[in-house]
Amino acid sequence: MGRGQRVNWERVIATVLNGLAPVVPLFVLLALFIIVVSGTIPGRGPGWRQRRDRWRGFKYGARDVVMSRAGHRCEGAAFLVWGRCPEPATDADHVFPWLRGGPTVPSNGQALCRGHNKHKGVMRPPWWYLLTLEHRRRSYFPPGVDVRVMARPGRS
Ligand SMILES: [Zn+2]
Repeated sequence: MGRGQRVNWERVIATVLNGLAPVVPLFVLLALFIIVVSGTIPGRGPGWRQRRDRWRGFKYGARDVVMSRAGHRCEGAAFLVWGRCPEPATDADHVFPWLRGGPTVPSNGQALCRGHNKHKGVMRPPWWYLLTLEHRRRSYFPPGVDVRVMARPGRS
């Protein structure tokens, strides 16, 4: 094959890039927005390949820990994310959903009212959910109790 018959990749790439150029900023912005809004905090929560905990329900001691450190009141947000739901807690719920490998341990638990539990999604909680929950917790968790959602399997 002669030199002249080679595909001019530089030109092909330039043409493709030129064609895409007008929409690239839009896609980049959209992708960044999705990453920023839905990203979770590194080091928190189960790994992507974490197997489901054998136990789905918080029982006995674990349930007591989750409910009592919240004062048996819902830990859900009110007034967007700044206030705290006034309802009594009815359920010990997984912050990182059990279906997504969230372990059934107190550091992955939150006390929720029926309404908040019902409207909870099955997605991994984004960073702003964790930070606002932990921010609220500082005002009602007993002294010395870690407010962080760790949700690492095998840890309490
Ligand atoms: Zn609630």
